[in-house]
Amino acid sequence: MITIIYRRNKCIGCNYCTEIAPQRWQMNQKDGKSNLIGSKEKKGFWTNKVPETEFEMNQKAASSCPVKVIEIRKI
Ligand code: SF4
Repeated sequence: MITIIYRRNKCIGCNYCTEIAPQRWQMNQKDGKSNLIGSKEKKGFWTNKVPETEFEMNQKAASSCPVKVIEIRKI
C-alpha cells in the first residue's frame, strides 16, 4: 500500500494531477481545486491509502505539481 497526502488548500487548480492520474484525482468545479478521490481530511491534510499499483502515476502527479502539495509514501 501507499499513502497519498495532499494539502488541498494550497492547490492552484493547474489540472496536472487530474490529467496524469485521473483514477485518483478529479477537479472540483465549485472551487477549482483538485479532489483526491476517496480521501479523508484532518487539519487541512487529505489522505488516502491506495494499492501499490497506483504508485507510479501518483508519484508522477506529485512531481508534476507546481506547488508540491502532493506527497506519496510507501507503507
Ligand atoms: S497538480 Fe497540484 S496544483 Fe495542480 S491541480 Fe493537482 S494538486 Fe492542484
